[in-house]
Amino acid sequence: MATISLTAPLEGWVSPLDEVVDAVFAERMLGDGLAIDPTGNVLVAPCDARVLVVQPSGHAITLETPEGAQLLIHLGIDTVALDGRGFEPLVAAGATVTRGQPLIRFDLDLIVREAQAAITPVIVTNGERFTIAGRAEAGAVAIGAPLLTLVAREAVAAEEAADGARASQTIVVPLPHGIHARPAARIAAEARRHRAAVTLSRGAVTANAASPVDLLALTVARGDTVTIAATGAEAEAEAAVSAVAALILHGIEEEPAAAAPVARPVAPIDVPAGALPGVTAAPGLAIGTAMRWRLADLAVVAAGQGVSAEQEAFESARGALLADLTDRAEAAAGSARAILEAHAAILDDPKLIAMTLMAITRGSSAAHAWRGAIRPQAEALQAGGDARLAERAADMLDLERQLIARLIGAEDETIALPDGAILLAEDLLPSQFMALDLDRVAGLAIERGGPTSHVSILAASRGLPALVALGTGLNAVRDGVQVVLDAGAGWFHPTPSPELVAAAEARLAVVAQRRAAARARAAEECRTADGTRIEVVANCGSAEDARVAAANGAEGCGLLRTELLFLDRATAPDVAEQTAAYQAVADALAGRPVIVRLLDIGGDKPAPYLPIGPEENPALGLRGIRVGLAHPDILDDQLRAILAVRPAGQCRVMVPMVVGLDELRQVRAALDRVGGGDGVELGIMVETPAAAVTAAQLAREADFLSIGTNDLTQYTLAMDRGNAAVAGALDGLHPAVLRLIEQTVAGGARHARWTGVCGGLASDPLAVPILVGLGVTELSVAPAAVADIKALVRDLDMIRARDHARAALDCAGAAEVRQLAREFAR
Ligand code: PEP
Ligand code: MG
Repeated sequence: MATISLTAPLEGWVSPLDEVVDAVFAERMLGDGLAIDPTGNVLVAPCDARVLVVQPSGHAITLETPEGAQLLIHLGIDTVALDGRGFEPLVAAGATVTRGQPLIRFDLDLIVREAQAAITPVIVTNGERFTIAGRAEAGAVAIGAPLLTLVAREAVAAEEAADGARASQTIVVPLPHGIHARPAARIAAEARRHRAAVTLSRGAVTANAASPVDLLALTVARGDTVTIAATGAEAEAEAAVSAVAALILHGIEEEPAAAAPVARPVAPIDVPAGALPGVTAAPGLAIGTAMRWRLADLAVVAAGQGVSAEQEAFESARGALLADLTDRAEAAAGSARAILEAHAAILDDPKLIAMTLMAITRGSSAAHAWRGAIRPQAEALQAGGDARLAERAADMLDLERQLIARLIGAEDETIALPDGAILLAEDLLPSQFMALDLDRVAGLAIERGGPTSHVSILAASRGLPALVALGTGLNAVRDGVQVVLDAGAGWFHPTPSPELVAAAEARLAVVAQRRAAARARAAEECRTADGTRIEVVANCGSAEDARVAAANGAEGCGLLRTELLFLDRATAPDVAEQTAAYQAVADALAGRPVIVRLLDIGGDKPAPYLPIGPEENPALGLRGIRVGLAHPDILDDQLRAILAVRPAGQCRVMVPMVVGLDELRQVRAALDRVGGGDGVELGIMVETPAAAVTAAQLAREADFLSIGTNDLTQYTLAMDRGNAAVAGALDGLHPAVLRLIEQTVAGGARHARWTGVCGGLASDPLAVPILVGLGVTELSVAPAAVADIKALVRDLDMIRARDHARAALDCAGAAEVRQLAREFAR
């Protein structure tokens, strides 16, 4: 295998990059390599090479080997601030140099005195093409001693294929929208955390997993089989592969492709003649005034005004935009936050940065170079044949535009919107959506796009009716005319008749009336039509969820998912941090009960500070309460934090993944140990068939039972909830699951304990009458669904609901139950 040997360009002390004080290098954002703390005062060429860039202030140089490997040598940290003082470049961009040839002379004393550090990273910036096969040990090094050995990735792949010596794992991607921008950003961040070169392959195509852009170009859709591979020290490679696999399989929460509206549907108007058909991005009906959002490419000059000026312009515009996106992500929540974070990751993509800098060294302006780097990636996604991934091109075009706007000083485009505007666009970029005055927008009609594009997700999260893929017929619509959009039924009418407008108005009135009725009674206690009390509470992951829940009339929190506080960090949160988080939820619910679920973490949701080895079946491994019992310090701290919330007694404790009484007793003993044995209610989640069939026994000692139908369904049907291959059949309305729910309710009743449902079934309007008919008296639902579910329960009659539930138990399968439930809802 052909190798490239790099020799030490400095005399000094070799260290791994982790020891560099700057995260950009330590986290390998620019690539892998080594660092040298210099003891001399001259930097020489580590190999024969061509000089690509010498920073104007002389503190860094980029080289390219004859094989195409690109190296960045950055003398010291934050040395750009020295403004050239202490550096004397001895070569210029374009020069050909030979190994050992002096490149930069520097004043080490001055650097040590005035810069943050003298340690000098030596980085391979095109890690997607070259990998490091050998590196010097930490310790003293002389100029010319072996430092790094590089090999082309294709050569590594060929060799490893021959002897099979790399870590790899093949998985089926369960993500509902495939690997689009947000998962790509998370995967790249995970890959960069490891000291291994990680790749992801689909078929014959391989991507550098550290590059979100490369990952997007793989066009991975839900259900695709991909192979994660890593090269590096054996333990590192294995750790990298299992961490990336775990992230893809279980670590990325995605909104389902189409969220079913909770309110009872109102029959749609038949598709009227003259309407344009489109694809539903966010359901809803709107009548409004057409207004077109026009978007022309920003004009840029191709030629640069000098390499250093353009580089500086690029870095400063990129830095400013990155800071802006990061600030806005921190201030945002939900999907808007995730999208801004994904945009920040794309902007930080090492491949895009390297391509832009390369074009600048060849004479391009920064704006032209950036467009040249990012536009082909967007076009490749559009041309890849996968509609979902083509939608992600909009994210790239958005970043192309935002950065160019900063580089050329263009103002963001705004248009004056009339009230009740229906915005028509060829495509709308996420940043433009976020800048809209949504109080004036009644709907979106988009020529291109797709139902899961980021604009669609944003529209759905705001409840704004939106249709995409309407085609070029939209071009003929004039600004200012009245139009009708039925996004749920999939049509847009550019010239509605007065009769159509009247029918749409009548329907809007019914929908509004139902919603308003649900909202108006949101705060009222919830009872069925014949008076049976059903509590409707909410599942929360944060104080923000709790605020939304309270505003929608939640009678409390039926499931606080505390694990969100424990994930993606190096150490467990301490008692004070946990107390503050739980207190914020309790405060948002103003005295209403909060059921805090003990940490539900483990094999499938790994936390680095919990030493759990790789498991073949994480869902059947160390998870839920098993983890807390194996780590009593973590369990005790969490109980202390819950008990510290005021007022005392507002929080109840719920134990996840119980299979037997023994576990409940151990948690009660832990409560006694931390001094909270008296007074606090302790309940269990029924998520395993074991807990369901022994519910009567458990209810003797548990204060309440709450059924986690998500897990109960996976364990009853033996279908992994993360496996796309069985996703279609994984339905909690399966009669087997319903029978376990019936048994649980009966077991609870034997000891006068209430039974609730906190799994996804409680938010499903078709399931609610069956659950209530089976005797469930608490429904813990999505925060925004509380008012609608309360309204649905108020319409129920217990005798009918019981008969309906009994009929469901006798059905042959989930599909038959769903059909029955649809008929019941009519
Ligand atoms: C469940 O399993 O139904 C549940 C509510 O818990 P989670 O979805 O967090 O596993
Ligand atoms: Mg669960």
